[in-house]
Amino acid sequence: MIRRFFSYYRPHKRLFILDFISAVIVALLELAFPLAVQWFIDDLLPGSDWQAIVTVSIGLLLVYCLSTFLQFIVNFWGHKLGINIESDMRQELFEHVQKQSFRFFDNTKTGHIMSRITNDLFDLGELAHHGPEDVFIALMTFIGAFWIMLTINVKLALVAVVILPFLILLVVVCNLKMNKAWGQMYSSIADVNARVEDSVSGSRVVQSFTNEEFEIARFKKNNQRYRGAKLGGYRVMSYSLSGIYMMTRLITIVVLVYGAWLSFSGQLSPGELVGFVLYINVLFKPIDKISAIMELYPKGMAGFKRFIDLIDSEPEVQDTEGAVEVGLLKGNIVFDEVSFRYDNHKSVLENINLNIRAGETVAFVGPSGAGKTTICSLIPRFYDVNDGGIYIDGLDIRNMTKKSLRSQIGIVQQDVFLFTGTLRENIAYGKRDATDEEIAEAANRAHLEKFIASLPDGYETQIGERGLKLSGGQKQRLAIARMFLKNPPILILDEATSALDTETEMVIQEALTELAQNRTTLIIAHRLATIRNADRIIVVTEDGIAEEGRHDELIEQGGIFANLHRVQFQR
Ligand code: ADP
Ligand code: MG
Repeated sequence: MIRRFFSYYRPHKRLFILDFISAVIVALLELAFPLAVQWFIDDLLPGSDWQAIVTVSIGLLLVYCLSTFLQFIVNFWGHKLGINIESDMRQELFEHVQKQSFRFFDNTKTGHIMSRITNDLFDLGELAHHGPEDVFIALMTFIGAFWIMLTINVKLALVAVVILPFLILLVVVCNLKMNKAWGQMYSSIADVNARVEDSVSGSRVVQSFTNEEFEIARFKKNNQRYRGAKLGGYRVMSYSLSGIYMMTRLITIVVLVYGAWLSFSGQLSPGELVGFVLYINVLFKPIDKISAIMELYPKGMAGFKRFIDLIDSEPEVQDTEGAVEVGLLKGNIVFDEVSFRYDNHKSVLENINLNIRAGETVAFVGPSGAGKTTICSLIPRFYDVNDGGIYIDGLDIRNMTKKSLRSQIGIVQQDVFLFTGTLRENIAYGKRDATDEEIAEAANRAHLEKFIASLPDGYETQIGERGLKLSGGQKQRLAIARMFLKNPPILILDEATSALDTETEMVIQEALTELAQNRTTLIIAHRLATIRNADRIIVVTEDGIAEEGRHDELIEQGGIFANLHRVQFQR
């Protein structure tokens, strides 16, 4: 884990070395200071030599200037190092989440993902900066100070370190407790984020059921848990800091009394006593530093562990070895004995066989939950089949690169996702290097041009959170415009018009019919009127494919489809 952590320093080696060396020099200067004081009192003062004092002061000024400069480097460049590492990790995590498969998003709360990418990494930058540097300096200072104390007076030095085992015990015990507390803190802030995400995206539902109070109470529970965990951590930390403070002050008093006694009996000069007492502070300062690291380390590492957990989770759907970059597909789709389940409990599809010819328009109908959307999700490999195989133009889709496969499949769903940005940007999401002419043409073919012309800012109108709200029909047309730009040989319309009123649907149907031309098209529809012209209709039920044929044939057969048809058109 630690080695893994250090691997993130690699790109910032120069920054690290600069920061580290500066910090070490600053610490060395501090280490030498009490020696200088001792020398000042014992050797310089008795001589009453003003010139020497002036010379020493100028020397001191130069040393302080150097130290100030180096401290600036440590503060600025050291933090820069930490920030760089934190931002590298955040970037890597975002990229990793982008690669994840649908199942990951099915099973992971959005709030938890956001928490990983933001909060969990907050303390890592600080740890990256202070961690190695402070540990090294603390050790160096401690050993240096102790060694100098030994040279001043062995007995006194030994008295001063008697307290050390107790200090170490205190720090270790507290550290273990803090470790646990910070881990809880991160998992509970993730829950807080998840709650916020849920209730904000579901605000309409919350308000329509007037469940605000309920949401507030739920949030309070999570918020309190976070508060409790964080408070617990700080409680332990406070005990530990107070304990350290008390122990080091106690030992100072002991040294002072014993030192005075040694001084009375002529074994210690006044300068040595002052120097020694100053060194006690230097000696125990690393303990403060170490205990600060002890706070930071578990915090940062708790975040790092969560980071690593996510980074190490392999995306489920990946390019296989030797996957080929397929050129333009014709769009002949074959399902061969395909079985699929989302989890281990229930099989959703079993031994499905299908053969969709290139350019054919096939409609899927059937009760909700039968597996129509699932069938369509398997074609772009949003999920991999558990058994059997899917072939496009004779090639197993698992042998194609994900990118080349998905770039040839267009999907229009019932709810269209709009990104915050302009209308142009949202249309161009279908082909990001599209020219203005291409965008205008796509908008035209999707029957959006009149609407866009009616807007004062036209294509530059902001939509989404900060701007225009689009109606269902307008969103659907925008999605169709995206598809005209993407121009895929295979098109999937998953209840694209189901949420629209009949009149709007008719208009959009026109655009869809044009879109479907010269493509292999799979339509999932509730309203049977929209699929009358399909080349073939497939009736899917929970037991698999029940009927298959042209519209009129199926009506004539008098089976499930004929029944559905009767129910819909009798009213
Ligand atoms: P349809 O599109 O025909 O209404 P779906 O393909 O959406 O049906 O769903 C088929 C079955 O799979 C349903 O029982 C549904 O509950 C289940 N299902 C759909 N999506 C998921 C998912 N992401 N995770 C687990 N189960 C799912
Ligand atoms: Mg569906």
